[in-house]
Formats: sequence, structure tokens, C-alpha cells
Amino acid sequence: MATKKMKPEEYIAKEDKYGAHNYHPLPVVLSKGKGIYLWDVEGKQYFDFLSAYSAVNQGHCHPKIIAELKKQASKLTLTSRAFYNNILGEFEEYITKYFGYDKVLPMNSGAEGDETALKLCRKWAYKVKGIKEDEAKIIVCENNFHGRTITIVSMSTDPDSYAGFGPYTPGFIKIPYNDIKALEDALKDKNIAGFLVEPIQGEAGVFVPDAGYLKKAYDLCKKNNVLFIADEVQTGLARTGKLLACDHEGVRPDILILGKALSGGVLPVSAVLADNEIMLTIKPGEHGSTFGGNPLACKVAIAALQVIKEEKLSKRSEELGEIFRTELKKIKSPMIELVRGKGLLNAVVIKPMNGKEAWDVCVALKENGLLAKPTHQHIIRFAPPLVIKKAELMKAVSIIAKTIKQFE
Ligand code: PLP
Repeated sequence: MATKKMKPEEYIAKEDKYGAHNYHPLPVVLSKGKGIYLWDVEGKQYFDFLSAYSAVNQGHCHPKIIAELKKQASKLTLTSRAFYNNILGEFEEYITKYFGYDKVLPMNSGAEGDETALKLCRKWAYKVKGIKEDEAKIIVCENNFHGRTITIVSMSTDPDSYAGFGPYTPGFIKIPYNDIKALEDALKDKNIAGFLVEPIQGEAGVFVPDAGYLKKAYDLCKKNNVLFIADEVQTGLARTGKLLACDHEGVRPDILILGKALSGGVLPVSAVLADNEIMLTIKPGEHGSTFGGNPLACKVAIAALQVIKEEKLSKRSEELGEIFRTELKKIKSPMIELVRGKGLLNAVVIKPMNGKEAWDVCVALKENGLLAKPTHQHIIRFAPPLVIKKAELMKAVSIIAKTIKQFE
């Protein structure tokens, strides 16, 4: 049955009536995506400067990824892990060699990846480190974002995320981000099993820690026999100008969490990578997911990872990110308080003017043909697909400049 064509406000009204109100989308109804562009139901074209929260690093409907999807979709999509299949091993070999780990545990959403890492860390604490059962603690950072499950919101310091969802999961110590002294102090507790960190805090507003923070944190973890766990769900896969954001400091996490762009935005695919000493602490029956590691997702993920290498997305992201920040800093407006970021993960801090905030700027950007979303009221994240070309980036910059000027 063909989907009935409606006016934009009718699509919005339908979602509003039948869907839960757990999001606050910009008022634009999209029906097509290709590369760095999106189109709305009336055919208007936009630059996508969100990339589905960095899931679409390879660009919308990347032909190579979609070809693999179509090929595998007509052969075998899901067996569950009750049986072996002919694709999972191929994916496992490919991704472990790609990132240099002994083993991978495939899941679906980023939140599931984080949950998996937390479970692995606790098992390792009891079976390898020798912490007494039920006493392991994991250090997390203030203003983190790791997803929406009960345990993950138990680690959150953002009331929007956690308030009203108690009782919370115990076992987490919250310390300020980018604060080595706080980590050093927290690590004095002998029951600490792991330190979970985003190499750049994405949802918090693209907070880039001081140079050297990750390396110092890693070294402290090693000194204290504590696992360094990197949530690279948003920062990974070339987004910040390196394959992993941890690569900027030569840090190899003990547990690495990936998601989002692992499928190029085609399917929910996440993965946790670790070496045998950690990964083999979980035995058959102790963790899993019906869809995790399904052959369709595996083929899509291999293609998505190949595209990152073939199209040199890390290098593009690094070079274009520099240009983007330089150009944004040239926009002289009292409304722009700060520009920050790494690679093509960037943010502009907006100073409200005449009662107009980041949300109003995003609505005006939409009118001018560029889609971006505020995070935390006064910050706008700019994260285009990494396949963007320099001329396109410059055009987008001119839209941003023109839009900001409208508010003066
Ligand atoms: N971890 C980080 C760093 C994220 O940015 C996100 C989502 O934005 C998640 C985890 C959760 O991913 P998902 O929404 O796929 O569960």
C-alpha cells in the first residue's frame, strides 16, 4: 500500500496524536536522503548538519552499504544466535582486525553497547581482579550521555535523563569530566573496576577535554588495575578526524564501545571490543540479544567500515573540521559566544539575543536550508556527514552566517 501524501502539518499532527511525546523535533518532515542532503515532503532540499547524531558519517543511503543490504536481505536476515550463520564470523574477523582486539560482542543500539561494557567490566572485576561479589564500582563523568536504560540513566547527572525513573542502579561514582585529580582521588577506592568515559562529551555540547586528559586518565587506570572503557558511539568512526577519538592521544581502550555509524545509519548496529581476558569472562547464556550479530547487520557493518577507509573519511573530517571552525570563527556576531570541536564534530555556543535562543536559530537555519539541532538550550551541534566536500561546506557556512545575521 502506498503511503498517503499529506501536508507537513498533517504528518506532524499524526505523530503527535499517536506517538509518545519523548522527543521535541524541529518542524520539518523528511522523506528522502542522499549523501549530505535531506529533502522534505514538499521537495525542499537541506544540508544535513546533524547526521542523525553522527550515525550517518558515510552519508545518507550510501550506495555501497545499500547494495550490501539489498543483497543480504534476500538471502538471510536473522537466525538468532541459537545457531551459527555464514556471515557472523566474517564480520567478527573483519572488525577485530580493523580495530586490533581479540574479540567483539555485537549488539544493536548504543545503549546496549554501553550496558554490555558495564556487564563485562563487573564480571572482570569479580573473576579476574578479585573484587568481592556485588562490590564493584565504576567511575563515570558528570554530564555524560550513554543512552536511556535504567542503569545508564542511573549514571546520569542530567535531571531530564534520570528524574522520575528511580530507584536507580547502584555502583557508580560520578566525578567531574576533564579532571585528572578527581579521577586520581576516586581511584583510591580498591573496589573500582572501571572508568567509563566519552573521549569528547557529545550530547553535553561537544565538550573537548584538555589535551593529554585521556592519556593521563588511561595511565592512572593502568596503574590501579582498572579498565579504561571508551564510549565512542558518537565520537568514533572518523567523526573527530581520527578513526577513534582516543587515537588523538594514542590511547587503546580496554573496552571499546561503538554504535551509530557502524551501519552508516542503515540499521541499529553496535559492538563492544575487548581482549580475551575481559571478553571471555562472560559465558554462554550470560548475555545476548536476539538481533545482535544478525547476518544483515553484519554485512551492512562490514560495508560501512570499508567505506570509512576507502573514502578516507578520517582525513577528510580532520581537514574539513579545521576549515569549518576557522570559517565559523570569522562570523562576527554577539550571538556566537564560542566555537569548539574536533574534526567534524563541532558546536557553537549561542548567547540568547532579544529573547531568541539556539532553538530559534535552528528553526531559521531550517528555513534557509540547513538542518541542525540544539543541545541543552544554548548549544548548536554541527556534524555533517563526513563525505561533504569543501565547496559544500563553504556553502553551508554562508547559510549559517546569513542566518545568524538575521538575529541582529
Ligand atoms: N553513547 C553515546 C556517547 C551517545 O552519544 C549515544 C547516543 O547519542 C549513546 C551512547 C546511545 O546510543 P543509542 O541511542 O543508539 O542507544
